[in-house]
Amino acid sequence: MITRPYRILRLASVFTLAAACAFSSGAALAQEHQEHHADASHSWTYSGEHGPSHWADLSPEFTACGMGKNQTPIDIVNPKIANLPAIQFSYQPSPLKVINNGHSIQVNYAPGSSITVAGKRYELVQFHFHHPSEEAIKGRRDSMDVHLVHKSNDGKLAVVAVQIKEGAANSAITAIWSNLPHEKGKEVAVENVKVNASDLIPANRRYTTFMGSLTTPPCSEGVAWYVLNTPVSFSRTQIEKFAAIYPDNARPVQPLNGRLLQQSK
Ligand SMILES: [Zn+2]
Repeated sequence: MITRPYRILRLASVFTLAAACAFSSGAALAQEHQEHHADASHSWTYSGEHGPSHWADLSPEFTACGMGKNQTPIDIVNPKIANLPAIQFSYQPSPLKVINNGHSIQVNYAPGSSITVAGKRYELVQFHFHHPSEEAIKGRRDSMDVHLVHKSNDGKLAVVAVQIKEGAANSAITAIWSNLPHEKGKEVAVENVKVNASDLIPANRRYTTFMGSLTTPPCSEGVAWYVLNTPVSFSRTQIEKFAAIYPDNARPVQPLNGRLLQQSK
């Protein structure tokens, strides 16, 4: 039994960390939080009594996980075909900085890479992986997905999701997979190795878009989602290497609640 003051302190710390993971790649911030991270990362999980159906009960800050009406992930069924602007990708290689944050493997990205949609620029902050894929398409989930998390100058978030199916090996992740950190909560800066997020983006960039949330606590809403229609492939060995660390780090699909799903032409 956890006494109440301890519990509040612990939950406050969890929220700070979750927000930091979702919103920041700052080395200073990572440094500031890493000593607490390993412990806090046990506070919400993908199964059991701290699993997704209990996230909202773990902290007042996680209310949106239970009460939110625009939550992610979703099952994409019958999107409306629309005249949507293309996503302009402007990604540069970044020195490889990788962290096992206790919920996924995350690559923190150097400033200077971005997407632009309808004239609005969002800077690439980090990308991370889920196994299986969080988004479902007509009820079916792919083996994995990658979420590329971007933030605009005015603090708006946009996530590009790419589905990953089993197939040919993907050289884009070789360096990341060779440097998977064993220790949780500690960013590893790999010397003289760069990673290029553009290698994870398929040639066909048609997408389905909707308004959603972070898929991890605090499940904050107001996140613009762009799920690319074309998957990329990882080999079975590459998928198994991730699954050995995170066998299931996908939140169940959430109700659509009448949201508009639009697909680009
Ligand atoms: Zn994600």
